[in-house]
Amino acid sequence: SPVVVPRSEHGISRKQIDEETLKVMYRLHRHGFKAYLVGGGVRDLLLGRRPKDFDVGTDATPDQVKKLFRNCFLVGRRFRLAHVRFGRDKVVEVATFRRKPAVGEMPADPEDHFRFQENVFGSPCEDAFRRDFTINALFYDIENFSLIDYVGGLEDLAARRLRVIGEPLERFTEDPVRMLRALEFCARLDFQLDEQAREGIYRAAPLIAEAAPARIREELMELFRHGVAGAVLRSAAGMGLLEPLLAGFAGDDPTFALLERIDAGTRAGATPAEPFALAALYLSRFLRVCPPNREAPVTEVVRLAGLVLAPHCGYFSIARAISHQARELLVGVYRLTRGRGRRGERRLLTNPMTPYALELLSFWSEATGEFRPLVGQWRAALGAKEQPGTAPLKAAP
Ligand code: ATP
Ligand code: MG
Repeated sequence: SPVVVPRSEHGISRKQIDEETLKVMYRLHRHGFKAYLVGGGVRDLLLGRRPKDFDVGTDATPDQVKKLFRNCFLVGRRFRLAHVRFGRDKVVEVATFRRKPAVGEMPADPEDHFRFQENVFGSPCEDAFRRDFTINALFYDIENFSLIDYVGGLEDLAARRLRVIGEPLERFTEDPVRMLRALEFCARLDFQLDEQAREGIYRAAPLIAEAAPARIREELMELFRHGVAGAVLRSAAGMGLLEPLLAGFAGDDPTFALLERIDAGTRAGATPAEPFALAALYLSRFLRVCPPNREAPVTEVVRLAGLVLAPHCGYFSIARAISHQARELLVGVYRLTRGRGRRGERRLLTNPMTPYALELLSFWSEATGEFRPLVGQWRAALGAKEQPGTAPLKAAP
């Protein structure tokens, strides 16, 4: 049976939960259903952080939820979620409690495992245990404002420890993306990775190659959005998680230092877009394969940039428009590193990609000490008034 913490003994107040989410929870409750705040929202409130969004868990089925709300839409093919819409762009996500299916219930196609697993309804207790980490499995019950903890998450939260629910090796085998998520939450929340979880990652690391590339790609961008790409990829590389994924990625110090600079900019409010992130991941390798005398014809450099990016773009099925921009960024950096006064400088200065290439070069320069004077000269030439890491990145292609 769970640990139940009554309202008088915890700090979450309804004032911290947005109005629409509360409305949804009250309505479910009035109609005899359970309505819990679940997942990251509860965790963040308990940590005194501002939750990105609130998710609601209930024992009402998606169809029952739909009947209760006029503006309710069921989304997902097999993985059915209820979206209750308010106004133009406010959505409250309501998910029916689910459980992990028994082994015999698993579909034959491993591609379907994860989604299928998301769609077998269960009890609140089963719903807690199918989640990834103890701190992500806490519930806040709107009936009496109590916290419900089936998995020891409150204790781990207090100890700032990231612990896997169940046997880590088993849970990582079931869904290898959890290994990256573990490192991500540790970095974001400044938590310690539990020892058993760490061991589980070392052992299950090669399985990361079996995860759907689209999900890994999403997690990678999530790292950039939260400004933890440098820290997480550094530890992921050390644990053998990157080798099976990013062929040709130079898991070297300059790369991690570069990513950490970009992360600092992100935490100050400017999120890099995917082409910028891609170019950053492969800049170190690109600079190393470029001819050292900086005299190669641009067509040759375009080819080299394409080669460096190709394995990643192939593995993750990156759209051509994005890989093209990433390549342009790398080529732009190369051209900037050749210094001022070259043929074609006018066109370089008016190329819309050049400010972003300079942004990238400037992060590289801060990270490695290279090209310092050049960055200043190009800034002056471009008349850049912006501070590094602010405006250009936000709109970066
Ligand atoms: P944030 O949204 O701030 O990144 P979150 O905890 O809300 O953090 P989500 O990815 O939004 O994370 O997922 C919501 C919840 O769903 C998690 O808190 C967790 O309980 C559960 N969950 C997400 N991904 C998995 C997974 N791969 N395996 C098991 N449970 C998961
Ligand atoms: Mg979330």
